[in-house]
Amino acid sequence: MELSFTQYNVRCTHPFGISRNTHETYPEIFVYLEQDGIIGRGEASPSDRYGESADLIMSKLEKGIKFPVDPLSPEKFEANVLPQCNGIKAMEMAFSMAYLDWWTQKEGMAMKNFFGIDDKKGPQTSFTIAIGNINLIPQKVKETEPYNILKVKLGTDHDYEIINAIRAETDKVIRVDANEGWNLETAVEMCKWLADQNVEYVEQPLLAENIAETAELKKRSPIPLFADENCIIPDNIPEIAHAFDGINIKLMKCGSMLKAKEMIEMARELDLSIMLGCMIESSIGITAAAHLSPLVDHADLDGHLLIDNDPYIGVRIEDGRVVIPDGLGLGIELDSDQPGLK
Ligand SMILES: [Mg+2]
Repeated sequence: MELSFTQYNVRCTHPFGISRNTHETYPEIFVYLEQDGIIGRGEASPSDRYGESADLIMSKLEKGIKFPVDPLSPEKFEANVLPQCNGIKAMEMAFSMAYLDWWTQKEGMAMKNFFGIDDKKGPQTSFTIAIGNINLIPQKVKETEPYNILKVKLGTDHDYEIINAIRAETDKVIRVDANEGWNLETAVEMCKWLADQNVEYVEQPLLAENIAETAELKKRSPIPLFADENCIIPDNIPEIAHAFDGINIKLMKCGSMLKAKEMIEMARELDLSIMLGCMIESSIGITAAAHLSPLVDHADLDGHLLIDNDPYIGVRIEDGRVVIPDGLGLGIELDSDQPGLK
């Protein structure tokens, strides 16, 4: 199996601000696995919140990865190759995705079929209004026109102003993401106020380390709480289930398509609502998530919609819903003649 890879910087349509930081570009690493005339594609979208970076992944890739001589099942491939990624989840995910794309193409099936899914459509996706120049909110709300649910980033010193500015333009359902930006007192006050603003739920209100306070907030909040920074891998789910109503599964956090499916099953067992989220990513990563989306309750799969140089075509959004492309494997196509991309 032949490995190639390249770094590609995606460019945000608007500077993308959350409570912690603002970015105008994000480095993605595309990983290609080739054998028997089939290319499997994967993407790593590293997050500094989890101590991961493009430089770290590129240097690890340049040192080389050992592949099994004969093609293995996706389970065996992951057991063999992912431990070589030094625990870098975004890098693990790139290999998990690329191999499953390759494997399912070879087997003549769409990736969703590997997971026992026939549906072509997932839930409605939210579209994010990130933290930025408040004067741009009317224009940003206009840009959300094709989508029925807004995800609004909060955790600033002017959160009321942001929601009021959006509510002056639209009454669409809002989901709020505080990205650990509140303390308990602020969170109680905000959750009560947001409940009257047609806000469906709040994601990660408090620092991930403040799990006891989050459990307290859950008792006092009239709207559901979803874990993001608190829910990385399958083992986290039983530890945090008492403090949240739902979890946000992201491929780049959990590091394996198979583990993402396992997290969906674990959350169902524990009666937690499930959302499938993303980083700012190209259509490789978002399409991979789309293949699991018919299994979840909520989708926040807009990473590729928030950039203006996506080099791939895959997942589509129709009437606000996530639609899995036809075709074998991921079902994506290259839409760029930039050298190094496959
Ligand atoms: Mg989040």
